[in-house]
Order: sequence, then C-alpha cells, then structure tokens
Amino acid sequence: MPPGVHTVHLHARAPAKPPTGLACNGCGVCCALEPCPLGMWLSRRRCGACVALAWSGEERRYRCGALAEPARWLPWLPRAWAPRLVRRWIAAGVACDADLEAG
Ligand code: SF4
Ligand code: SF4
Repeated sequence: MPPGVHTVHLHARAPAKPPTGLACNGCGVCCALEPCPLGMWLSRRRCGACVALAWSGEERRYRCGALAEPARWLPWLPRAWAPRLVRRWIAAGVACDADLEAG
C-alpha cells in the first residue's frame, strides 16, 4: 500500500465523508483512522479505530460513544459536567476538520 494510504472499515450504510470545512455528518472516517486525544487515552493507542466509536443504526451515522454514553466511558466524571467537558475535549459540533481524502 502506498505511504499515507490506509484502509479503514466502516459500516456499509455510513454516509460519505463530506469535504473538509462542511458540517460533520458522522461518517466516522476520522475516528476510524486515528483517535482524538481523548480517544487515544480511552483506546490506549495512537492510531487505528477509537474504541468509543459507535454506529447508530437508527441515525445511520457514527457517534462518539464518550459523548453519547459518558457514564460508560468516563464513569468517574460528574454526570452534570460530562457532556460539556467531553464536547470540549473532542471538538464536537464543529465542521469536519479531517483533512483526509476518502475513496
Ligand atoms: S469530523 Fe469529518 S471525518 Fe470525522 S466523522 Fe465528522 S464528517 Fe466524518
Ligand atoms: S471523537 Fe469520540 S469516538 Fe472519535 S476518537 Fe474521539 S473519543 Fe473516539
């Protein structure tokens, strides 16, 4: 495989990755390729799919498990703070910042 080219396995019904800068559609490419800093800590690795990446069949998109289920992934975090803190750690809700080419 040429340098810089990686194979990631995603759900067949996952949406295609939007161009960088457009709204995140939950395609999962970024978190399947390399965890964010919080994901690295949760996954205990720096590359490969994040253990907290979760497919939502109902919404047909990937979700961050740490954000969707903080009690499961970060049980020591006070419940009232969890979503706010996690959102800051993973920069959720911003436009797609994954400068990757999906093919
Ligand atoms: S940030 Fe981009 S690559 Fe990551 S899930 Fe959202 S749309 Fe996909
Ligand atoms: S955003 Fe969530 S699922 Fe994605 S790498 Fe970070 S912790 Fe993992």
